[in-house]
Amino acid sequence: MEQLPYNDYGSAMRRKLGTRVQKLAIDAGFSCPNRDGSVGYGGCTFCLGEAFSPSYCREATTITEQIERALRFHAARDRRADSYLAYFQSNTNTYADTEHLAKLYYEALSHPSISGIIISTRPDCITSDTLQLLADISKRNYVAVEYGIESVYDTTLSHVNRGHNFAQAIDAVTRTKAAGIDVGAHFILGLPNETKHDILNSIHSINALCIDFIKFHQLQIYHSTVIDEEWREHPERFLFSQNFGTEEYIALLIEIIRRLDPHIAIERLASQAPRHLIAHSPLSGIRPHDLRNMVTERMLHHDYRQGDLIER
Ligand code: SF4
Repeated sequence: MEQLPYNDYGSAMRRKLGTRVQKLAIDAGFSCPNRDGSVGYGGCTFCLGEAFSPSYCREATTITEQIERALRFHAARDRRADSYLAYFQSNTNTYADTEHLAKLYYEALSHPSISGIIISTRPDCITSDTLQLLADISKRNYVAVEYGIESVYDTTLSHVNRGHNFAQAIDAVTRTKAAGIDVGAHFILGLPNETKHDILNSIHSINALCIDFIKFHQLQIYHSTVIDEEWREHPERFLFSQNFGTEEYIALLIEIIRRLDPHIAIERLASQAPRHLIAHSPLSGIRPHDLRNMVTERMLHHDYRQGDLIER
């Protein structure tokens, strides 16, 4: 294929680390402050914990065992890499004292196949001690923090019971970058009451964050979540329930990419979860890899590029 019309995460990581890397998801047994009452109860309205973890994380006990299983899982699918990053994915992976965090992170790093760690967390759950720990680790290993920001709009964050606002996300990203650590961010497209116009307007705020990589996910509504009930009772609040299917999602992604700072590497354009968990998704079974190819082909066809709509 011709050169990709956007800054692809895999290529960006190859340039940065000099090798082909594969992330191995880890469930280190963390909980979430937005469920246990220290920030809020009940969690985010869209959250379904079991949708986070790949099958190889389940039933495993230690981090080392999960890494072994993950290596076998990827090898069986012929996904080989030159080096592997432990991806602390499930729940809030900085929600513990620094001593405990160090024990878990260093257990992953002690595995001979692991060359770095990526820590997924909330913007309101990153202390200066944790940042110092990560900065220390980053002297020898690759380290990145991935923040679930989800929306730049405080009304949306409040509506879905996130328990933090966008100012806290800006603060977390700024402090993490100042500690010399790569930062990623996760956003959900199609949260309640957000229009296409709102989403496209939010890209300017995302560009101003100065993050290194980004994941966009379509809103997937999981069975038995709070948002599942809202979606059935108030379909008018949801962009994707108003005749928004794959074609419209692809068109939206392209408009987003054309407004996105070309320095931000794009890691994901859509998410995938086991079908039996999903009550509604605009993508009806299309795999993220195929969707990405469709976006790429269409952008190449029209000669669009990441950031080509940014006014200089
Ligand atoms: S912060 Fe993350 S883990 Fe916690 S409830 Fe929200 S989505 Fe779920």
